[in-house]
Amino acid sequence: VEDNEVEDGILLIGERELQLPELPLDFLNTNPAMTEDNKLLVQGDMVLTLDQAAKLYGGRTGRKATYKDEYLWPNGEIPYKLSKQSKLDEDVIKSALQFWMDSTCVKFRELKTYEKAPNYLYFVRENGCWSSVGMVENEQKISIGPGCDKKQVIMHEVGHALGFHHEQSRSDRDNHVVLFLENVDPDMRFNFKKERDNNYSVEYDYTSLMHYQLDGYSIDPFEVRTLMPKNPLDAYLITEKSGLSFRDIKLANLMYKCGSHCRNQLTCYHGGYIGPDCSCRCPPGTRGRQCGSKFQDYYPPNVCGEMVTSERIISSPGFPDQQKKDTTCIWWIQAPYGKRVQLVTKAFELENRYVGTKDTVLHKKCIWDKLDVRTDNLYMGTIYCGEEIKKGEVFTSSARDLVLEYHAMSPYRKGFQFNVEFLPVRRFNSDIGKSCGNSFKMKYDVSYHVTTPKYPNNYEPETKCEYTFWAPSSTDRLHLHFYDFIFEKSLSCSKDNVTIESLVTGDTQV
Ligand SMILES: [Zn+2]
Repeated sequence: VEDNEVEDGILLIGERELQLPELPLDFLNTNPAMTEDNKLLVQGDMVLTLDQAAKLYGGRTGRKATYKDEYLWPNGEIPYKLSKQSKLDEDVIKSALQFWMDSTCVKFRELKTYEKAPNYLYFVRENGCWSSVGMVENEQKISIGPGCDKKQVIMHEVGHALGFHHEQSRSDRDNHVVLFLENVDPDMRFNFKKERDNNYSVEYDYTSLMHYQLDGYSIDPFEVRTLMPKNPLDAYLITEKSGLSFRDIKLANLMYKCGSHCRNQLTCYHGGYIGPDCSCRCPPGTRGRQCGSKFQDYYPPNVCGEMVTSERIISSPGFPDQQKKDTTCIWWIQAPYGKRVQLVTKAFELENRYVGTKDTVLHKKCIWDKLDVRTDNLYMGTIYCGEEIKKGEVFTSSARDLVLEYHAMSPYRKGFQFNVEFLPVRRFNSDIGKSCGNSFKMKYDVSYHVTTPKYPNNYEPETKCEYTFWAPSSTDRLHLHFYDFIFEKSLSCSKDNVTIESLVTGDTQV
């Protein structure tokens, strides 16, 4: 154990100065379950009225306009007051409000001490960071508690006060993210319920400031995740947040009808919208008066990592010199059909695990640098740092895919290098009797039929068959229907049996 010394979040280990990590929206794992006046915090930081909770998750369907309209602030005017304790955070609160005002037509106005208003926001410094959703009460609390005094967190809570919900609870979220509720405390799983709304059809946005972190509500933050983008290469979009996204701002403009006074209703293409000044606001990657020209994707490209489909060498940026600080790279290595990935370690040197204070969630975690090696599925694997992978060590994928996700914060280590090779997929040893089988590359909406040999007549003894079904993409699901199933009965199916195995998750059923 090395001697540690912390000052302003900087840790001195030997001669290395390392910053303790700070997640942009980590309050989900630290917020209380209730407010001081016993209101339940839904999805971590939202205070809902009974009516709102019923509408959010209830049975009413078929309404095109969002139910959120009922809770908007009239004319987008939001009076507010700061409590005595919140005055301490006055500067950062005001700069967060200013950012919302600069981007939309909503107006925040601080009430004078003597001034009255029928409805207003009341900034308090209670336990945790939370807010009501939309305008619901005459004096409506928004808590910027200890540790919440960061501009991003305040903009997020103010987003709730404007009427925003969380991005990952949209009705269409299953097209974009995969949940891992087995990593969430059963009592907390209700927070991942899907809502009935899709935010005025503004496209789903991983970079939204209203999106949960990857380890929100995790039973083991930093180590185990609770949600992932469907495409594992997109995970960097959620881990690196930088304030309100274009689509967050667009949604606020639509909710508060910021462009409805404009006489010339321009058509804005490629997801653009009409701003308060009646001109088109164009999303990243587009330009022109009506956003007509698209020259790049909406999302910023990742600086490193990619889909890998050929045998080659993979190195962390900077290798063999010191690694680059604040880097995230994701490689999705995919072998051709019928093959699997083998990774041979040529070098591996990251920052060590944190061995500081035992009572924090950070203890013994790879908090500065880490490599997540996923051999059995696309989303979760084993996390390594320090020199925990030895030269020559080999990783083999169970199916076609192997994913590496790498984060670096320390500038003192040299990173890693692996050699990627493709091997034939593991087979049954069919050393007994006859063997048969087939391999199918599946297409969407096409069914594939297999039968035991000689079906519907009896099958022959001493036969082993293997059928492999390759989905069009590794994120697809397959459905297996048995139309007929008559086998010899035996204890634990030891005589005759069918084994169903997922080469992606490794799950096996007999
Ligand atoms: Zn929130």
